[in-house]
Amino acid sequence: MAKLICALALVATTTALQAPNTNSAPRAPLKAAVMEPATAVPDAISTEHPLRVVIAGAGVGGLTLANALKGCEHIDVQLIEKTSAFKRFGGPIQLASNAMQLYKELDSDLYDQIESKFTWTGNLTNGIKDGIRDEWYAKFDLGTPAANRNMPYTGVIERPDLQQILLDNLAEGVVNNGVGVDSYTTVGSAVDVKLEDERIVPGDVLVGADGIWSQVRSMMRNEPARGEGSGVTYSGYTVFAGELAYDSPDNGQVGYKVYIGPGQYFVITDIGKGNYQYYAFLARDPGSAESEEKPDGSVPYLKKIFEGWSPDVHRILDASKEDEIQQRDLYDRPPSAFKPWSVGPVGLLGDSVHAMMPNLGQGGCQAIEDAIVLAEELKGLTSRSDADKALTTYRNRRLVRSAAVQGLSRFASDIIIRGFDTPAKFVDGRFENFNYAGIVTRLLQPILPVFFWVQFEFLYEGWRNEFAFDLKNGLILGGIGFFLLAVGAGAVGDLAILLPFGLESLVGVEALTAASETLTGIGGGLEGIL
Ligand SMILES: Cc1cc2nc3c(=O)[nH]c(=O)nc-3n(C[C@H](O)[C@H](O)[C@H](O)COP(=O)(O)OP(=O)(O)OC[C@H]3O[C@@H](n4cnc5c(N)ncnc54)[C@H](O)[C@@H]3O)c2cc1C
Repeated sequence: MAKLICALALVATTTALQAPNTNSAPRAPLKAAVMEPATAVPDAISTEHPLRVVIAGAGVGGLTLANALKGCEHIDVQLIEKTSAFKRFGGPIQLASNAMQLYKELDSDLYDQIESKFTWTGNLTNGIKDGIRDEWYAKFDLGTPAANRNMPYTGVIERPDLQQILLDNLAEGVVNNGVGVDSYTTVGSAVDVKLEDERIVPGDVLVGADGIWSQVRSMMRNEPARGEGSGVTYSGYTVFAGELAYDSPDNGQVGYKVYIGPGQYFVITDIGKGNYQYYAFLARDPGSAESEEKPDGSVPYLKKIFEGWSPDVHRILDASKEDEIQQRDLYDRPPSAFKPWSVGPVGLLGDSVHAMMPNLGQGGCQAIEDAIVLAEELKGLTSRSDADKALTTYRNRRLVRSAAVQGLSRFASDIIIRGFDTPAKFVDGRFENFNYAGIVTRLLQPILPVFFWVQFEFLYEGWRNEFAFDLKNGLILGGIGFFLLAVGAGAVGDLAILLPFGLESLVGVEALTAASETLTGIGGGLEGIL
């Protein structure tokens, strides 16, 4: 069941982004490399003594923050990016209505530039298809919740295009790439940021927008950036992503479709101009790219794994060249409800604090929401010693919403891959796929549109982040989500599915075990009856 869920939403697209800057030449030398001791500036922020904001990482989040602070004469921004060359994985990124609306409000010129490279998908048919029978299982309406709010539709853009637009919109000298942030030292209410080449950049605020393996987070929380103790966990899934020109039979009608089936799923997304992107999500141990042999290449490997699935899946695989496919393991983090988002003048943003699975296509969108909210709080500061308060307010406005999206994204992967199956069906006088998961997948079919509707209401309503939480939609979403999760847990006989929502700690393992066993028992009974 649930599989779908969100998944759906899924995404569209995209890529994992990495470093920005399409060109490798480092930009202008750091304006501020080492200089005025942190204590020499007055506490009051002025045009003469602006608030010095140092951003580590020029991904979607860091670049959006720099753009949102642009034009403020009382704020000086230094964006430090580790890499000097853009690395590409997976192609385009889906920007959902919540993110597009924020760009629209931020800067209409910037929005127009993004729109000029955008492919709209939110006004097309999107949804979940039965991967084996090749028929629609559930469709989701991305268009109405956006249109009702006069928001732009969801769509996709090539990640390098988005990054280049965001970079070109910044003044010369703001972005410094080719050297990363190594560490930092707080000096009173200020911060000295040390780069990998030993230079020091003094700031009043340091924002760690340096991605899932964040060095800033590692220092702030005194934990490793990677591996055990880092809080980053392997999701259990690997993804193959391909991008190519493809003569799709439903071009112009379908935005994205999620083919579901036992133990895996396949997503195909229209990315414009006759190009398509696909994702094949498989449950695997980490490192399967190296450990699992593919002597004939990724295309034959995937075709074998998806044998018997929709002709659409095989057509797009047949059209793929080996160098158009990449594989990567997927990692995410649990919500940082009890670990800090900021300490003193140092804060975290985007994947560094709430990395999530790509299933909802919201990781980058949530980083964009972070950036806009943080910029609002920083712009309002009049004294630099209050920077810590601005960071705390930013966290309070973002914590619950980002955590909900994180949980939904992980839930979507687990439930789609491990909970859902080919729906049970009565065909030619006999039942097909009448196991627990197949029956549950079929029974949930009419419920899912409601869940999707609530999900998109939640995502599109709360983009301003004015309140700590959209209580009404949050409770409805949580209620339906819990129900789907509980049934899904019964389907896979595994309570791990409930972990993304932290339900184990809330309800207790024993209670959940009993619930799961009961549901499994019901499923087994049904199977016997049928
Ligand atoms: C397969 C896949 C598909 C996805 N699809 C979508 C989608 O369709 N829509 C969506 O919204 N999201 C999507 N996402 C998620 C999205 O890519 C991320 O959530 C988003 O990129 C996070 O942005 P960020 O700026 O926080 O971090 P990143 O984009 O990771 O940027 C971090 C930057 O910091 C730099 N950096 C790292 N260390 C340092 C250092 N020490 N000093 C300085 N710089 C440093 C890195 O080089 C990088 O440029 C997808 C993710 C994956 C894996």
